[in-house]
Amino acid sequence: MIEQAYDVVVVGGGPAGLAAAVSASDNGALRVLVIERDRELGGILQQCIHNGFGLHRFQQELTGPGYAGRYIRMVGERPNIAVLLDTMVLSVAGDKTILAVNPRDGLLKITAAAVVFAMGCRERTRGAIRIPGSRPAGVFTAGAAQRMVNMEGYLPGKKIVILGSGDIGLIMARRLSLEGCDVKAVLEIMPYSNGLTRNVVQCLEDFGIPLHLSHTVVGVHGKDRVTGITCAKVDDALRPVPGSEFDLECDCLLLSVGLIPENELSGDLGIEMDGLTGGPVVDQLRQTSLPGFFAAGNVVHVHDLVDFVSEEGETAGKYAARHACGLSSSVGRLARIMASDGVRTAVPQVVRLDDVRTAPVRLYMRVARPERRVTLRLLSNSELLLERVLPVAKPGEMVVADIPADKLRAIGDVVTVVLRRQGGEQGE
Ligand SMILES: Cc1cc2nc3c(=O)[nH]c(=O)nc-3n(C[C@H](O)[C@H](O)[C@H](O)COP(=O)(O)OP(=O)(O)OC[C@H]3O[C@@H](n4cnc5c(N)ncnc54)[C@H](O)[C@@H]3O)c2cc1C
Repeated sequence: MIEQAYDVVVVGGGPAGLAAAVSASDNGALRVLVIERDRELGGILQQCIHNGFGLHRFQQELTGPGYAGRYIRMVGERPNIAVLLDTMVLSVAGDKTILAVNPRDGLLKITAAAVVFAMGCRERTRGAIRIPGSRPAGVFTAGAAQRMVNMEGYLPGKKIVILGSGDIGLIMARRLSLEGCDVKAVLEIMPYSNGLTRNVVQCLEDFGIPLHLSHTVVGVHGKDRVTGITCAKVDDALRPVPGSEFDLECDCLLLSVGLIPENELSGDLGIEMDGLTGGPVVDQLRQTSLPGFFAAGNVVHVHDLVDFVSEEGETAGKYAARHACGLSSSVGRLARIMASDGVRTAVPQVVRLDDVRTAPVRLYMRVARPERRVTLRLLSNSELLLERVLPVAKPGEMVVADIPADKLRAIGDVVTVVLRRQGGEQGE
């Protein structure tokens, strides 16, 4: 078995992993390794050929491969970063021994002084949402269809219905319309879209594709191939309303019903997980509950903008390098961030009040349901750390706010993040 040793090993070569590797190299790690199971670097970006990437980071509108290409170049410019492609990480032990496998070398045993998890996320499938009906061909996840169309040159069908209005589904509605398909409708079980507003406008409204809110699929028809679906309106408890059913003829049903962070490796290690984000609990350095193990990108929480993924990767890479060089301590007082009253998730979940007291702490939050004219408040020890009026807040759009550095000294053991409606009423 081949055995190798590195300062920092990054698992996953998507935008989070690439940014982490570059940053680890720039912050003193002498030997950095990126392990990627795919045949090329870039992660999910390689199949996202639409534009809209990099507006924050590069002040330019790039395609997914264009954005990934910039980071792949940066990795190539740093000779101390090694890359293993076509290599699957099978396990990571608490002593940072990594077992990986590829067709060239067989089994590899790699040791690291610090590990960055950047495995991204996978799509929820039909099994995860239990759609009744037969099991004909023609039911795909939207991401699988995106890869088929954009990278392999196939169409998943001609008459399409999309279940779920997440960004991948919206983008595929536009993509398949441009390819000449008849996109019949997008169905969304919630009373609001889970995608970015700009995607609802640019991918559905501009193409005249109907969006049926509070609707779901209650039947899939067809023996060998999908011939149609039955959909129905749902009530407040998301149960189908009897008598509201109607049929749509189609030969393809695409599912865009959520993403699951790929945390089998982190979970097996016993790292503390956040049940709401599906990712590990991290501090502002993106260190997990196990010292020397860091995480960044969609493996931590599902991001809507890749620019923030890169930012998170840079942070994780920097502090992984410092850990590997023996420069960071994992001791220090910890404060817990508690999301409540209309705020569903907040990352990081922990603020370390020792290492970086002089730097502001950036929080990424998602609200529980759409809100208008609410105030976001961060409180600790009865002191108001931050207050921000949000004219509109949607679960599909991340809210980003910085806790100012001068406020960090006032933090107690817990920081509470809440929404307040006008007049003092709290968000539900
Ligand atoms: C369809 C779609 C459209 C989007 N549109 C936009 C947009 O317009 N603008 C925007 O800013 N953002 C957009 N995003 C979001 C952005 O692309 C993602 O947030 C970002 O790519 C996540 O990066 P990541 O590195 O965390 O994960 P990924 O890109 O998923 O990379 C993770 C990598 O880890 C590898 N991996 C996983 N497990 C292992 C293992 N055990 N061993 C080895 N390798 C492993 C995977 O193969 C993968 O390459 C979009 C995302 C999607 C899916």
